[in-house]
Amino acid sequence: MATEQVFIALGGNIGDSSTIIEQAIEAIARIRECKLRGRSSLYRSAALGDVPQDDYINAVVKIDTSLQPLTLLLELQAIEHAYYRNRDEEGRWAPRTLDLDIILFGDRNIDDSHLVVPHPEFAKRRFVLEPMLEIDGDRFVPGYGSLGYLTDQAPALCMTKLDKNHG
Ligand code: ATP
Ligand code: CA
Ligand code: CA
Repeated sequence: MATEQVFIALGGNIGDSSTIIEQAIEAIARIRECKLRGRSSLYRSAALGDVPQDDYINAVVKIDTSLQPLTLLLELQAIEHAYYRNRDEEGRWAPRTLDLDIILFGDRNIDDSHLVVPHPEFAKRRFVLEPMLEIDGDRFVPGYGSLGYLTDQAPALCMTKLDKNHG
């Protein structure tokens, strides 16, 4: 069956975020009809927005999947819920245990009420671009440009790559 390459961004800033992100990567690798093809290091970044909150831990994974986009989104939301994410209490930009966003789905452009791809903010978010660059440095995103170019253009962000023991 034909597969498409999908980039998923992971983030969280409540609880033991490094462990939660590592476990979420394992959970993504176990989704039916999905094969993990690459993963970035973990990164620590300062939270965006006006509300003071803890730093985020971020990562990006690359998978091949034959699932349809909305089906994959439901699978990712099930993983978010497994980590106690509560959308009613955790508004947009609020702290959260686990956030999984679909960044790219093949070369598709999707504008559905539940899913917009490419993720509309990805080109502004260094915490998405730098991990993507780490796992797929030569990637060109139609309509946007190369990942290298996008990363050069993205706003500055206080961000560090963590070593393997999450220092
Ligand atoms: P942002 O999308 O700016 O990063 P957020 O991740 O905080 O904000 P959520 O509260 O996690 O936003 O998601 C709200 C809704 O966004 C989800 O219920 C989902 O249906 C929708 N959504 C739209 N596009 C995407 C996408 N590319 N990946 C994941 N969810 C998406
Ligand atoms: Ca998000
Ligand atoms: Ca989200």
